Amino acid sequence: MKKTGLLMSDSFLEHDTGEFHPETSKRLISIQNLFKTKSYISSLPGYSPRPATEEEILRIHNSSHLKKIQSIQGRSGYLDGDTPFSPGSVNAAFLAAGSGPVLADAIHRGEIENAFAIVRPPGHHAEKSHAMGFCMFNNVAITARYLQTLGYNRIFILDWDVHHGNGTETAFYSDPDIFFLSLHQYPFYPGSGSELDRGEGEGLGKNLNIPMPRGSGDSEYKLAFEKLVLPSLESFEPDFILISAGFDAHGMDPLGGLELSTKGFEFMSFEVCKKAKEICGGRIISFLEGGYDLFALAESAEVHLSVLSDN
Ligand SMILES: [Zn+2]
Repeated sequence: MKKTGLLMSDSFLEHDTGEFHPETSKRLISIQNLFKTKSYISSLPGYSPRPATEEEILRIHNSSHLKKIQSIQGRSGYLDGDTPFSPGSVNAAFLAAGSGPVLADAIHRGEIENAFAIVRPPGHHAEKSHAMGFCMFNNVAITARYLQTLGYNRIFILDWDVHHGNGTETAFYSDPDIFFLSLHQYPFYPGSGSELDRGEGEGLGKNLNIPMPRGSGDSEYKLAFEKLVLPSLESFEPDFILISAGFDAHGMDPLGGLELSTKGFEFMSFEVCKKAKEICGGRIISFLEGGYDLFALAESAEVHLSVLSDN
């Protein structure tokens, strides 16, 4: 078995989005309950998050966004139409943003080879200047910049959440050292993610959107992996791979309109792990993004973890 770090925290349950919101703490409880039934998981090295520092957050977000999030500490309300917050949300958001750096340090020290951060709020819709789409800070983007401070210069971000990772795309759109690849339902929320958007300036060619028509499933994703995802990984030769692992492209998901099976997530996880071993010493940090069917989410997250850990 490979050494895989697992980061979870009950503090993420304190981000209370209300009774009827799909991005609920029940998602993490469902994952935790399934994980408790798998004996291999209890032997994985466990990690706890720390709050991201202001410096780490300001590499991706502007100071008005940081101040806005700090200003809602201890309160309840809405940051945008679908991003509610509660008294525990600010702490959870800072911890979610600091989770990647904790795991990056552990991989850098050689304690573990890869890791899975089971965080909320999710991050990939969060833009430089504002929260959006259930996301407060862009957890994966903050981690990419943190990795660069450790000397991992070339980062490949793979986003297979059913929604386009608009915030991550804009953060690195002109950056030649950070490749952003997103597979997502299209057209769909948030509206961005056209295959014509390939990056700009020095980053031209380092952004790849793979739009999936409604109803696409395992065979379409397999084809996209063979034709586009794996060749992009191979030619970019990253030092590190980050995954925005949403599980809302699952056929059972109530928000998404795609038809991936749990086996489909197993296939993608397996192919990325295999490629990572060949090109970047197996270094991967995966982040939970979306996934709103409690059963499909837990099952897919467990399969993802079992592949990461070679179980
Ligand atoms: Zn999503």
